[in-house]
Amino acid sequence: MSFGAISKEAHETLAIAMNRIGAKSNTGEGGEDPERFVPLPNGDSKNSYIKQVASARFGVTSHYLVNAKELQIKMAQGAKPGEGGQLPGHKVDEVIAKLRYATPGVQLISPPPHHDIYSIEDLAQLIFDLKNSNPDADVSVKLVAEVGVGTVAAGVAKAHADKVLISGDSGGTGASPLASIKYGGVPWELGLAETHQTLVLNDLRGRIRVETDGQLKTGRDVAIAALLGAEEFGFSTAPLIVEGCIMMRKCHLNTCPVGVATQDPVLRKKFVGQPEHVVNFFFFVAEELRQIMAKLGFRSVKEMIGRVDKLKTQKAIDHWKAKGLDLTALLKVPDVEPDIARYCVQKQDHGIADILDNKLIELCKPAIERGERVKLDLPIRNVNRTVGTMMSSRIAKKYGLEGLPPDTITIKFTGSAGQSFGAFIARGITLILEGESNDYLGKGLSGGKIVVFPPKNAIFNPEETILIGNTSLYGATQGEAYFYGMAGERFAVRNSGVRAVIEGTGDHGCEYMTGGVVVVLGRTGRNFAAGMSGGIAFVLDELDKFQSRCNLGMVELEKVTTAEDKKQLHEMITSHFMHTGSRNAKRILDAWEAVLPKFVKVMPIDYKRVLEERKRKAKAGKI
Ligand code: SF4
Repeated sequence: MSFGAISKEAHETLAIAMNRIGAKSNTGEGGEDPERFVPLPNGDSKNSYIKQVASARFGVTSHYLVNAKELQIKMAQGAKPGEGGQLPGHKVDEVIAKLRYATPGVQLISPPPHHDIYSIEDLAQLIFDLKNSNPDADVSVKLVAEVGVGTVAAGVAKAHADKVLISGDSGGTGASPLASIKYGGVPWELGLAETHQTLVLNDLRGRIRVETDGQLKTGRDVAIAALLGAEEFGFSTAPLIVEGCIMMRKCHLNTCPVGVATQDPVLRKKFVGQPEHVVNFFFFVAEELRQIMAKLGFRSVKEMIGRVDKLKTQKAIDHWKAKGLDLTALLKVPDVEPDIARYCVQKQDHGIADILDNKLIELCKPAIERGERVKLDLPIRNVNRTVGTMMSSRIAKKYGLEGLPPDTITIKFTGSAGQSFGAFIARGITLILEGESNDYLGKGLSGGKIVVFPPKNAIFNPEETILIGNTSLYGATQGEAYFYGMAGERFAVRNSGVRAVIEGTGDHGCEYMTGGVVVVLGRTGRNFAAGMSGGIAFVLDELDKFQSRCNLGMVELEKVTTAEDKKQLHEMITSHFMHTGSRNAKRILDAWEAVLPKFVKVMPIDYKRVLEERKRKAKAGKI
């Protein structure tokens, strides 16, 4: 079951119910409170089995990932394919803001795409990253039922996902726009049939499980889904109704009268759902399914998968509403050899058995097990991908969100790092790279520190040379980063807490940022700060060109005038110099008073208003 916008009470009740019956609840895309990871005294658990990783990466930390049994990449939502989302400021209360590393009262935007997925290879990389972040968890990919989804699902199977979810057009809460609910996507039956047939025809079905959702409500729905090719089944609306939803369709207004889809504390008190109700509902679903299976002569759900020949269609085809419809393609049994698997029979090979992190875990044992300091000096090559992530998962598992004291593990690498260097690394880990790095460096940084500077004998000018690839620090939540060189495109997109200093960036820097501080000591590309609703950026604008490169839709540009800002900026540039030896930083610090007026402060308008309001309230003792 998957829920993104519902109340804490409704979400926790569902999680308890699903855990009781050995089913899987889903966090939705808003993160999860770490206190839910701890089992309750009566043996129940509020921990969601599936942790979702969506485009905004809200609350996606190393600790969140390591507490999952399944990690789900949400490529899109059945009810609104291809669209992002928006949580209006009035819905962002203290709890939501804490979980999403945001500011209460400031709106949050989920971008339509994942900024680290532009191809099936990128998706494969994210699957690899997530597997590293929690080697015990399965990785699934949520797609939307659309024409051609079978081909995408085949790519997902080849990218080593353990499961693909085909989401139908009717799912999703009432928070989706009406036009999307009415006209986006196609029914799950179409997407599922195409997916199953494509996977069987390409001999990929045996490598991947298939799930479907989008208004499954009964045992009959489950039976049809199995016969069309699914082995897992997602429910959303029906259990919500069991919990008390009366289908008012006000989920997006924060006024749900029964406390199901609202963050309003008064309305939340009206929630009366109990885990027992949900458990009972699923018993009825299972019983109906059992009766259908008995009629059809099946002893297990596995035997049913893909048996479209058992679907009686004539009555539906004869119905006047179905006149002119041709369901032959939907009900086709793939013509393949009998030994080709028709349901998942093997585990994916995620390729993590012999990666560099296994060696790092061994070498860093004293730190991981006893918190002792470890310092290493190692070479690195671009075949070494996602370095530090699996090691970090061990720390997150043992030490929780807090991680270890800063710099407990310091690893200096020399060479050229592959993709996702330092992804999701936890507090206590410092990775220093003398060389260069590929894309996705510091993705989801979770408290660790990353430093990159060029080789000592480099003959290029680092202030004008790209040293780290595209989409660095995407979805980063906490930590520090210093780069003596430029970044490619999309630097610090959806950063929500990291303090970073860099010499220059490509296009779309700090896009959708909601927190943290970014200092750019040189030029930026176009579209800087698009959709930026929180955090602060300081940009050194010596050529007086920044205004034309900044997207002023949600931010305003200011001078650096307050003592607090000056101190913060000076400290960050000093740290940058200490960590990287940047000549540019040295020049700026040496001529501080002369250079300071050339810095521009990029300040989100809403964020500024809310911060000022909060300051006033704090003064008056109201928060
Ligand atoms: S009662 Fe209405 S507002 Fe509440 S969850 Fe159901 S549809 Fe949404």
